[in-house]
Amino acid sequence: MATIGISEKKLLEAALKAMDKAYVLWGFRVGAAVLAADKQIYEGCNVESWISGLGICAERCSINHAVLHGNRKIRQIAIVAEKNDYEEPTPCGMCMQYINDFAVNSKIKIVMANVENDKILIKSVKVKMLEEMMPFPFKK
Ligand SMILES: [Zn+2]
Repeated sequence: MATIGISEKKLLEAALKAMDKAYVLWGFRVGAAVLAADKQIYEGCNVESWISGLGICAERCSINHAVLHGNRKIRQIAIVAEKNDYEEPTPCGMCMQYINDFAVNSKIKIVMANVENDKILIKSVKVKMLEEMMPFPFKK
């Protein structure tokens, strides 16, 4: 379990609220929230499609939400998932690249947690730096 501060907790709570809106056909509910350059929080949820790959992950949904509001830089991201296997909900490779594309720097925190019975499992909270999770991002 990671020690988390007020800002991490606030982001996790926002991600949890967003998870409620997830559109799930075959997977599981995921919520995300980013702290953007304007210091506001922008949420996202996964939106699935019957066509594999057509939907969007919660992480990219939350970043798109921030971009829509004029933010192209994110300072932190939280991800929560309702899963039964108790593995932490790490972002997929596409989202890792997307987070990297919009992060203020490679040291931003990625806060991850599982959700059970609509509550964040505090013991499941993990905090990693972006560069720890994606040391060699693609750059043109
Ligand atoms: Zn993803």
